[in-house]
Amino acid sequence: MTSEFGLIARFFSRPVSSTRLGVGDDAALMDVSPGQTLVVSTDLLVAGRHFFPDVDPWRLGVKSAAVNLSDMAAMGANPRWATLGIALPEPPDDDWLGRFSDGFHDTLRRYGTDWVGGDTTAGPLTIAVTVMGEVPPLQALTRSGARVGDDLWVSGTVGGAALGLQCRQGRWTLSEEDRRHCEDRLDMPEPRVSLGRALRGLAHAAIDVSDGLLADLGHILALSGVGAEVLWDAVPLASALRSIPVDARQALALAGGDDYELCFTAPAVLSQRIREAAASAGVSVTRIGRILPAGQQVVRNAAGQVLDVKWRGFDHFDSAGRP
Ligand code: ADP
Ligand code: MG
Repeated sequence: MTSEFGLIARFFSRPVSSTRLGVGDDAALMDVSPGQTLVVSTDLLVAGRHFFPDVDPWRLGVKSAAVNLSDMAAMGANPRWATLGIALPEPPDDDWLGRFSDGFHDTLRRYGTDWVGGDTTAGPLTIAVTVMGEVPPLQALTRSGARVGDDLWVSGTVGGAALGLQCRQGRWTLSEEDRRHCEDRLDMPEPRVSLGRALRGLAHAAIDVSDGLLADLGHILALSGVGAEVLWDAVPLASALRSIPVDARQALALAGGDDYELCFTAPAVLSQRIREAAASAGVSVTRIGRILPAGQQVVRNAAGQVLDVKWRGFDHFDSAGRP
């Protein structure tokens, strides 16, 4: 049987590239680049709540890293270091651990992030990841900077991950290609790190879409003290959404979570520069509306009619908020 320290040595001690001291001591030592602000974010993933306990362990490792890197993207930060706190059911399963830790490590490496430490204990499967990054002072993208008249943008497409979840729950039968695409979106989101960095100095506010487009946009609106108009017909839908009825399509695109796209606002005069920034980051972006004065919060169709939609997304402590 593998001991706690054996597990750490075999699966969690990976080479680091820009860390003074990584796994193995009482704490890690990192040198923050001169003149940069440290950015820190933590996410907790609990089996049965955030993921199916039998999900492929490599994919779970990928997602555990990706959702945290996505928070760095939403801040315009450059991710540098990560730690993993993990509770594991007994006895530890070497095959599971190997694949999980490979998925986690591979994803961090892709984004230039060192795995510098963590904590390991027995218990119900729970994963706590902290990512640390850097951003030039005053250039971080926050939720509170949106201004009336800003354009409202979203990267990539929305609704695919939520459709992937419902597909796995047996609620829809999709074509093999659509099913695979949506389940990949659910399990392996692409953190928009390059886009976040490219939006520094351009975007006024940004958030990553984890709980649903309108719900996460709602956080920008609340913290910025503004409202917004969203144009439903402009919202870039995951193509698989075309194969389900319009009501469900709307619910998944506007209130479904887990896409990890960036939703951001920027002055209308910068729209060309936003497109160039997105092109340089290799990500598509779509203008989906504009920022209005506080109190005005609507979704409209192409005919100008106001759609009756919920602005709340997933809330762990509020069952009424679940889509
Ligand atoms: P302590 O008892 O001082 O907390 P631990 O025995 O928990 O030390 O950890 C020993 C070393 O192993 C530390 O450097 C810690 O960061 C690292 N470590 C423990 N668990 C993990 C993990 N899940 N991922 C990466 N490093 C880990
Ligand atoms: Mg410890």
